[in-house]
Formats: sequence, structure tokens, C-alpha cells
Amino acid sequence: MAKVLILSGAGISAESGISTFRDSGGLWEEYDVSVVCNYDSMQKHEELTIEFYDKRRAELESKEPNYAHKVIADLKRRYGRDIVVITQNVDNLFEKAGLKSSDIIHLHGFLREIRCQDPYCEQIFDIGYTKQREFNGGGCPSCGSKLRPNIVFFGEQAPKYEELGRHVQDCELLVVIGTSGNVIGVNTMAQFATRSILNNYEPSSAINDAYFSKVLYKKATEAVDEIAEEIESFLDSINSLKKL
Ligand code: NAD
Ligand code: ZN
Repeated sequence: MAKVLILSGAGISAESGISTFRDSGGLWEEYDVSVVCNYDSMQKHEELTIEFYDKRRAELESKEPNYAHKVIADLKRRYGRDIVVITQNVDNLFEKAGLKSSDIIHLHGFLREIRCQDPYCEQIFDIGYTKQREFNGGGCPSCGSKLRPNIVFFGEQAPKYEELGRHVQDCELLVVIGTSGNVIGVNTMAQFATRSILNNYEPSSAINDAYFSKVLYKKATEAVDEIAEEIESFLDSINSLKKL
């Protein structure tokens, strides 16, 4: 298990031009997220839901990773299994910054992917930045069933939470960047870790920052060098002790 857990949310991608939930007032680029991100959206509002995710997927093509994504990708490359990178984001900016798909856990799904709705099939397909219905005429190539975005909607099970839980229990340094803590309870996570760092642009009503050893209220691109230094000295001291 990794010694350092880096958990990010929408805030880390804000400086790359992807709005957070809060910045868009709950309307993620003009759509009511309580409708298009809800567990029954594919049944009740299929057209709207597909259109929403098609647009979000298409806009990713032109978005570039920012300095924070790049520094974290570089740390992961250098320290390997000592660091686990986990994100709530569905964008691919860490991958664009150089992380392999096996180097990052997307808790809430991945926009480039669509998935077969048949529970006995559930095959996943990477369709790049294209529209869902342009893939194989809109049906699953294996079984012909309907497809859906490979996104965890509100009210659905998030299968990767189990993995998150295991990493939280074992990590020694927890780093939280750009999340309001409304979806994932980072307060509890901070209580498990020996040391913890919180970086958000501003305080959030869902986070009690007293649980964190260090709190940085500033943009992720401005905080990330200090965060990286702390991770490096933490891992270097542990690894040099091991060699003794
Ligand atoms: P959120 O929108 O609830 O909160 C964003 C947080 O980021 C806030 O606390 C804010 O202070 C902070 N922030 C804003 N700009 C920042 C910056 N430049 N640097 C550092 N921090 C900054 O986001 P959430 O907690 O991730 O929850 C939203 C949910 O919506 C997640 O489940 C996520 O999957 C989804 N979502 C994803 C994306 C994406 O993939 N890029 C975008 C919007 C929403
Ligand atoms: Zn199928």
C-alpha cells in the first residue's frame, strides 16, 4: 500500500478551464446537475443526459493539464508505488500530464469511456472525444444492449470506494486538493492519516480544517510546489531510514 495518498477534486482542474460544481452554481455549463448526474437520468432523461456528457467529453479535447497536474504526475513517475493518485474527476488531465491509466484511480468514472448497460456484460469502451451514439450505432458491440457514460451518477454505487478505503487506512501522508468534501468525507480520512495537507481555493462548509496538519487556501498551481516539497522530504526520510 502507498505511503502517500493524493486525493483531488474538481478544483485541481479549474485552472485548466473546467468549471467546478460550485463555480457553476450547481449548473455545470447550463445543465442542472441534479438531473443529468442523478442515478435515474438515463431512464428519465436519456437524450439530455447523453447530450450533456457528449458536450463534456468533446470539450476535454482542447483542455490542457495545468502545473498542478504536471507536478503530481512527475512525483508519481519518480516515487512509483509509494504514492497513490486518486481523483474524483472524470476528466483526463492527469493522463494528459503523462500518467498511465494504471497510475491513477478515477473514483467517479471517466468521461472518455462508455459502458454497456446490461449488468451481465458491462463492457467498457474508450471512445475518445466523440459522441456516444456515433460509436457502433449506439449499441454494445458484444451484446447489442444500450450504452451509457461510464460515470458514477449521484445515488449509484461507486465500486472504487472500496479501494479508496483501503488506501486511506494505510496511508501515512494524506494530501487533499481541490475538493469541497461534499461527496467524499475528507474529515474522516484526515483522522486516519499520520499527517495531512488540505489545499482548496477557499474554506468549505463540509470540511473541518482543524483535522489537517497543514492548510493551504490558494490556487492549486500556487500551492503545489510546497505540497511536492513536503511529499519528497517525507518519502526521502522514510526511504533512507529503511536503508539503515
Ligand atoms: P466541488 O465543485 O464541490 O468543489 C471544488 C473545490 O475546489 C472547492 O472547495 C474550491 O474551493 C476548490 N477550488 C476551486 N478552484 C480551485 C483552484 N484553482 N485550486 C484549488 N482549489 C480550488 O468539487 P468536488 O468536491 O470534486 O465534487 C464535485 C463532483 O463533481 C466530483 O464528484 C467530480 O467527479 C464532479 N466534477 C468533476 C469535474 C472534472 O472532472 N474536472 C468538474 C466538475 C465536477
Ligand atoms: Zn454489452
